[in-house]
Amino acid sequence: MQLQGSREAAHSWATISAMGDCSSAAGTSSTSTLFKWNFSAVIAEGIAPPKRILFPLEKIYMVWQQQQSAGAGLFNVGNTCFLNAVLQCLTYTPPLANYLLSREHSKACQQQGFCMMCTMEAHVNKVLHSPVSAIVPWAVLKVFGRIGEHFQLGMQEDAHDFLCCTVNAMQRACLSASSE
Ligand SMILES: [Zn+2]
Repeated sequence: MQLQGSREAAHSWATISAMGDCSSAAGTSSTSTLFKWNFSAVIAEGIAPPKRILFPLEKIYMVWQQQQSAGAGLFNVGNTCFLNAVLQCLTYTPPLANYLLSREHSKACQQQGFCMMCTMEAHVNKVLHSPVSAIVPWAVLKVFGRIGEHFQLGMQEDAHDFLCCTVNAMQRACLSASSE
């Protein structure tokens, strides 16, 4: 088995990500200060507001809400490097990770069967709370074929394609939850 993404690499990712956010938050000198984007200003600059709000803007936090050390790496179980790369990028995206770590989604989820938000919530919590240096991303591998029908375990796939399908599946889960 080959280790995909070491703790050191993951830590660099988290650090770069946090630095990027801090530098754009003028006037925030403390890393514990929660930086919120001024979304109402963004919308006022010509972007039409969404027809349906899936998550309130004021609850989106662009920097880590919890002190976060690097999580577990991901084992490559056979041509799954594309999947691991995408999962690591999403895991170390603070606004998404903050939400998934809160488990707010699964507490309210009514979805029967496959739900990509529940899948990502399980994966991110496992990676970031794991005491071991690497895990197999079973939560995602179990539903691999549901994320995109053309995906087959063991085959080389395209990381960008997998990212698009994953984000689409997450959005479908959110839209279906909001229409219930
Ligand atoms: Zn769900």
